[in-house]
Amino acid sequence: MTMKMPMISQCSMEDCAYNNDRKCHALAITVGGSAPLCDTFLKSPQKGGDTDSVAGVGACKVSSCVYNSSLECSSENIQVGNHGDHAECDTFQERT
Ligand code: SF4
Repeated sequence: MTMKMPMISQCSMEDCAYNNDRKCHALAITVGGSAPLCDTFLKSPQKGGDTDSVAGVGACKVSSCVYNSSLECSSENIQVGNHGDHAECDTFQERT
């Protein structure tokens, strides 16, 4: 089965180094940890990444999510939200 990398359709973490105009310009992010955090988030005035491309989700460690398959995200795309001091995948849905 060939996996397709989901795209980040929007990220509201505007003080992140990779964020420009609510778009993520890292090549890919990692999601995970104790919650569906964006592990790639970097609070910095310096902007980085590749402004010609929009990030994908390279890996996701949150196996309890309905979209998680073999520690990869199978959603078509995700949205990342600003949760105050951290960025979190808002597409996350707990597996029941
Ligand atoms: S998805 Fe993560 S790395 Fe990309 S802009 Fe948002 S917080 Fe930054």
